[in-house]
Amino acid sequence: MYRSHYSKEITKTEYNSKVIVAGWVEDTRNLGSIAFLILRDKKGTLQLTILKKKIPELFEKFISLPRESVISVKGLCKENGKVRNGYEILPDSVDILSISETPLPLGVVDKVEADFDTRLDNRIIDLRKPETQAIFKIRNAVLAVAHEYLRSQSFLEIHTPKIIASSSEGGTDVFKLQYFEKEAFLAQSPQLYKQGLMATGLDRVYEIAWYFRAEEHNTRRHLNESTAIDVEMAFIKDEEDVMRILENLVHAMWKRASECTEELDILKKTVTIPKIPFPRLTYDYVVNKIQQRQSPIQWGMDFSTEDERLLGDIMKKEGIDFYFITKYPLESKPFYTMPSGDKYSRGFDLECKGVEISSGSQRIHDVTLLKERLKACNLNPQDFYAYLNAFRYGMPPHGGFGFGIERFLMELLEISNIRECILFPRDRSRLTP
Ligand code: ATP
Ligand code: MG
Repeated sequence: MYRSHYSKEITKTEYNSKVIVAGWVEDTRNLGSIAFLILRDKKGTLQLTILKKKIPELFEKFISLPRESVISVKGLCKENGKVRNGYEILPDSVDILSISETPLPLGVVDKVEADFDTRLDNRIIDLRKPETQAIFKIRNAVLAVAHEYLRSQSFLEIHTPKIIASSSEGGTDVFKLQYFEKEAFLAQSPQLYKQGLMATGLDRVYEIAWYFRAEEHNTRRHLNESTAIDVEMAFIKDEEDVMRILENLVHAMWKRASECTEELDILKKTVTIPKIPFPRLTYDYVVNKIQQRQSPIQWGMDFSTEDERLLGDIMKKEGIDFYFITKYPLESKPFYTMPSGDKYSRGFDLECKGVEISSGSQRIHDVTLLKERLKACNLNPQDFYAYLNAFRYGMPPHGGFGFGIERFLMELLEISNIRECILFPRDRSRLTP
């Protein structure tokens, strides 16, 4: 096994002993009689110091290596206070595992930042940069704690179909595909399945899943393929029960992120843990507040991006990053949202610094009311036949939310473009790599 496979950091106990290290050639500097090579692996970089007169053939091999080639080196680890990490390696032998082509389409350590499309076109090389990797290490850490938290609250992890017969949410933003003789769609969310499961006795479920949305607009906060944490829970009293799980989940994830000090240092970010419970602002309160600030919004309309930003600014002044918007008008929420009186719903959004990161609600569990709401939303109950069946034979009150992972990371790390937060983004114009 080559060292970089387990990427153990070299410690003082290994000084003056032979070590094997493997990784990518980040840079070489040839000074004639001595050469320095910077080798990089998952844990960082180290310096190889090669003396020409010691083994001339080895010296030639090293200095002719193109950047980003992969090598494994055996040599003496020597303490050296002048080297950044306190030691250097004096190689005895090298295994050249892969020679990189030149020129590189993208530099890994170039001072000048390449444009974003070049970075994404060469994502494999872009992902070699510590600052790009840091985002995905933090992503990994916050998802680990999401699993931990939800399991600790007795949620069962599920996986539901992504090829489905009718659109999950209604609406038109679906990708169609040919499914043998039939037409099918890519799931916009696990909504209909996670709700169906509430009728089974598996009464708390979560899925970390893909959303496929054929939204045509190209924005900084929408992807056509994104990931989310979806939660559904039964026997709730109202949407408050759902909001409590969501705020605790967000709190746990934010806190875990604040502990990723190495990665946050690389990204030059600090993360302040928010206080829970998050404030609950009603839709009516928000409309009033932003109308006073010249928003053209009328009661019943959904908030525009600009409205959300305006509210974000108002809340920021009060020192609040996270807040729920509750009691939305019924007409602005999907058909499955539980009404509250004639005009309002039990739907809510969780906002972070003026950007929606999650939407949820108490759902309708009465099949007659559900059919009525489908019709009121100009959807045909026939198209939702399989979904409606789940409500016919005993369905408890329930609710849940969908919570976008890339949106969350974007707000957490104050990254302006959501494409940074997913390995291989899919947008209107990008299908490769
Ligand atoms: P928005 O209004 O911001 O477009 P939405 O209300 O259409 O979002 P929901 O259907 O409520 O989105 O989805 C739940 C969550 O999933 C959102 O709050 C967001 O975090 C995330 N999400 C939804 N659509 C996208 C997308 N196209 N790209 C990235 N994340 C998304
Ligand atoms: Mg929403």
